[in-house]
Amino acid sequence: MSETAKSRAAALAHLRSSDFAKGDPIPLPLTMASIFHTPGAEAGFDQYGRYDNPTWRAVEHALGHLEDAQCVAFPSGMGAISSVFFALLKSGDRVLLPSDGYHATRAMAERFLSPLGIACDTRPTPSFLDGGFDGYQLVFAETPSNPRLDICDIAAVAEAIHRRDGLLVVDNTTMTPFGQRPLDLGADIVVSADTKAVNGHSDVLFGHVASRDGDLIAKVTDWRGLVGGIPGPFEAWLVHRGLETLEVRFDRMCSTAETIARRLKDHRTVSGLRYPGLEGDASHNLARAQMDRFGFLISFELASEQKAEAFIDNCALIESATSFGGVHTSAERRSKRGDVVPPGFVRLSVGCEPVEELWQAIEASLDKVGS
Ligand SMILES: *Cc1c(COP(=O)(O)O)cnc(C)c1O
Repeated sequence: MSETAKSRAAALAHLRSSDFAKGDPIPLPLTMASIFHTPGAEAGFDQYGRYDNPTWRAVEHALGHLEDAQCVAFPSGMGAISSVFFALLKSGDRVLLPSDGYHATRAMAERFLSPLGIACDTRPTPSFLDGGFDGYQLVFAETPSNPRLDICDIAAVAEAIHRRDGLLVVDNTTMTPFGQRPLDLGADIVVSADTKAVNGHSDVLFGHVASRDGDLIAKVTDWRGLVGGIPGPFEAWLVHRGLETLEVRFDRMCSTAETIARRLKDHRTVSGLRYPGLEGDASHNLARAQMDRFGFLISFELASEQKAEAFIDNCALIESATSFGGVHTSAERRSKRGDVVPPGFVRLSVGCEPVEELWQAIEASLDKVGS
């Protein structure tokens, strides 16, 4: 981890202390309120729960500290992603999305943006730069892409789209601000499904939009307040609590994933293994250049749907579940969710279990499945 990332992580735990009065609770209080005490006519204090909540502000402050940007919280990753499209685009605009990224982003664009006269094109992540970005007002990248873990060059995409006065939005869900910093690489906006590693405990849906451009943040905030797609205070409180251990969890998950990926690659039942941290992976050189860590997701193929299901079911330390980024290792056969991948394709989300115990359980299950 870089020195700045370390100091950011250290300061996170003490962010609230600058405002402490004697007797204040050290942990964040949870404020469940739709209305606040509002005598007189002045503004500048909390008034109504669709616009104001101290618990949101705390989680936005903490996320903003990690992103080194302003931050707006949402009740889900899709809430955050859709706010960017709906707040910033108008009829006649053209957007580019990854053809191999999170499926709901594409579905939302096709079903709800296209009918409004916003043209939506797609392109695969590995060749995202091919063809340039002429005519696009907004380019949306997801890198590494989910589930195949391909990568595109964020700085190069940002430079190319900025020459055309367009915006680059990056979905940084799989990496978190500790693994990759798209805003530092030139992106205008970061979106994240904090449902995943940021919260990390698989008990809440949440999302955020981050940007260093105050006008963009103002539009997204305005959209949230008027549409009413606001997070609940309790969810914000849980995410704030999850954030306090993000650096520790993410460090463990990424380190373990590097070890497990190397060993999986050598296992006779496994083919098509993808992990950006492995020398020889198609993503590796670019990953070294633009990512601070290689992440906790690994994807690979087993010989058939049955073998992949049996591997997941039989492994004592893998939960069979969609989603990823939790403290417990989980896996899913992705063709089940409509991703265009072979039937035996598995996405493994490495959790916080001790590495040797986890590997033994994975190896035992693979051995049982056989080649
Ligand atoms: C899960 C996910 C989302 C959507 O997040 P929700 O909280 O489920 O709405 C968006 N992008 C990526 C990359 C994801 O993995």
